Amino acid sequence: MLAAAQGRARGIIMRIATGLIVAGAVSLLASSSAWSQTAGAKSAAAPQAAPAPIPAPAPPTAKVACANPNALGIGRTVEIDTTGGPGFGFEHFKQLDFLRDHEVVLTFDDGPWPVNTPSVLKTLAEECTTGIFFPIGKHATYHPEILKQVAAAGHTIGAHTWSHANLSNKKLNEDQRKEEIEKGFSAVKWALGTAPSPFFRFPALQHPPEMVTYLGSRNIAIFSCDLDSFDFKASKPQTVIDTVMRKVDKLGKGIILMHDFQKHTAEALPELLHRLKAGGFKVVKMIAKSPVQTLPQYDEEILKDSKLPTVSSRPVSSVVQTISE
Ligand SMILES: [Zn+2]
Repeated sequence: MLAAAQGRARGIIMRIATGLIVAGAVSLLASSSAWSQTAGAKSAAAPQAAPAPIPAPAPPTAKVACANPNALGIGRTVEIDTTGGPGFGFEHFKQLDFLRDHEVVLTFDDGPWPVNTPSVLKTLAEECTTGIFFPIGKHATYHPEILKQVAAAGHTIGAHTWSHANLSNKKLNEDQRKEEIEKGFSAVKWALGTAPSPFFRFPALQHPPEMVTYLGSRNIAIFSCDLDSFDFKASKPQTVIDTVMRKVDKLGKGIILMHDFQKHTAEALPELLHRLKAGGFKVVKMIAKSPVQTLPQYDEEILKDSKLPTVSSRPVSSVVQTISE
């Protein structure tokens, strides 16, 4: 904790300019024990059986201090300069080792999804802590109201392709791979009504070199991981907890890959966060210096492909009604 740090005491602690990682900067921001959570997390109690494709307005944000004195909390916040597409996570990128001993980053892939994502949000709120969410573009168009809850709770949001295609699949040409990346960001932007962070995770952690280069040219950071929970293979929540704790105890720190899409992960999270706290681990919040710049071509394509509503597509009669003359 840096309780004394006020305002924007920042210092660039690292800058790398080699190889594919043209430039990357991680800045330390003021950390605070204060935390904000939203009334939107309450919707975790409302199970949903089927996708609800109707966008809903973002829930009202009511910022309150952390009410849990034993919460895991947030150890510190780092700001990422994504210029040149820096890579994070030792499974693929070893240059930017910014985490200190016993620091972890919580990451959640493949949402937003009913029940499980709201459950993850509820747990994170109870522990006054945070993570990075890497939603699938299509899922964002199915459940924009859930993704808005993720944003309203103050978590960092990146993207994870449009349809979770494996970008190393030889059947995809280069344009199709770029389209997967770009439409993923455009869909998340559509769902949120604002551009997400330029943070990207490849499906199945498959990193075709030409797409790594492309993301660099787009100034989008790439997130691999330091330890994979393999939660999608777990047959029960306890397996997720045991796998993560075994690996993090061995490594001492790391970016943890989980899936808010997965039921077992949502169920495992309360106990897992207790174990991390008991083990002396601190959560690092990662934010981007500036949002991603989506490309207009793909913003338009997702509207066309998904037949998503836009304000401009509404007929005048549905916007303006004469009440009296
Ligand atoms: Zn995934």
